[in-house]
Amino acid sequence: MVIVGGIHGNEPAGVIAVQRVLHELRQRRVAVSGRLLGLAGNLRALSQNVRYMTRDLNRRWFPDHLARLRDTPHAEESSEDIEQRELLNIFDRLDETFDHPLVVMDLHSFSAEGPPFSVVADTLRNRPIAYELRVPIIFGLEEAVEGTLLGYLADRGHIAVGFEAGQHDDPRTVENNVAAIWIALVSAGLVARADVPEIARFEARLAQAAAGLPRAVEIVYRHPITPEDEFRMDPGFYNFQGIGRGQRLAIDRSGDVDSPSAGRILMPLYQGLGEDGFFVARDLGPAQLQLSATLRKLKIDGLLGYLPGVDVEADQADGGDEIRIGRVGSQVVVGGVVKQVLRMFGYRKDVGGGDDLVVARRRQVQSSRRGRGGVAGDAVTDGGDSE
Ligand SMILES: [Zn+2]
Repeated sequence: MVIVGGIHGNEPAGVIAVQRVLHELRQRRVAVSGRLLGLAGNLRALSQNVRYMTRDLNRRWFPDHLARLRDTPHAEESSEDIEQRELLNIFDRLDETFDHPLVVMDLHSFSAEGPPFSVVADTLRNRPIAYELRVPIIFGLEEAVEGTLLGYLADRGHIAVGFEAGQHDDPRTVENNVAAIWIALVSAGLVARADVPEIARFEARLAQAAAGLPRAVEIVYRHPITPEDEFRMDPGFYNFQGIGRGQRLAIDRSGDVDSPSAGRILMPLYQGLGEDGFFVARDLGPAQLQLSATLRKLKIDGLLGYLPGVDVEADQADGGDEIRIGRVGSQVVVGGVVKQVLRMFGYRKDVGGGDDLVVARRRQVQSSRRGRGGVAGDAVTDGGDSE
């Protein structure tokens, strides 16, 4: 299990929490079954308490960029290129060393006020740990942002959970992170539940922080913006707030921006890029989650090609599957029910496709690991059960 904090340098709460849990594990001599690695993400940005120095470190986890980082170790480059190569080297080494998937937790915080939540790529294997955290899981958000560390790791077949713990400098954010790490350690089987006397308190803490919210939501609408739109959100909205269809949410140069559907509003978490105005999510009940899990286990995916206008293309090039929805059929059917069905199977990412709509999902089955026999060396420090 790998826990990453501070991939954004103005989010130190994750790093503080990782250090605290590692310290507690040692001091209390808790038995750890397996290996635990804590990583501080953007060291240079953390030292300045800024989100990043030159560019966002949680972007550009694309195969071509990573290949360049691997191949040109001494090229002239940005601070984040150096940071990214350091992280990449560690994950490469872990990949070579272990032939089973890693469990990776990526800790973040946000600037606005709001409840904690988790973000996962929608693969079945990502769900159990996220569900144990007792805060809302947002499906479809990870897929909406390109080049994140989590997306890269999910594509490599790892279990990857993002945790957004609270406001950057709120002391509760560290506490939420600490609770989430312990819960994940127990859930992943590294630590016995009986060895964490506070576990019930941790669970109650996160459940309380997310009181009144659904356990899972899925993004059904993304409002993309450009600087030319002069998009301005109306004040007073907060994450997970219920909104009605047609409700005015913002204004831009062409006038009112209304919500296309009822649901919950989610404001952009990844400020600084300015590509997303807002998202609309809808609640997913336990029954819906169970249904989509069951259908996937039954491998009914194979029948998706029988849906009207749907053409299944297994494109494994970047580690995911893609489905092409022809615009031959009725727009209403293709845009509505079919997309809803596809989302149940994890197809949440709109990758464009000219005249057709192409949706993609993260790889659902474990990838074959890239060979074995490597030694973790200093990436996973020997000499203790935990590091
Ligand atoms: Zn962040």
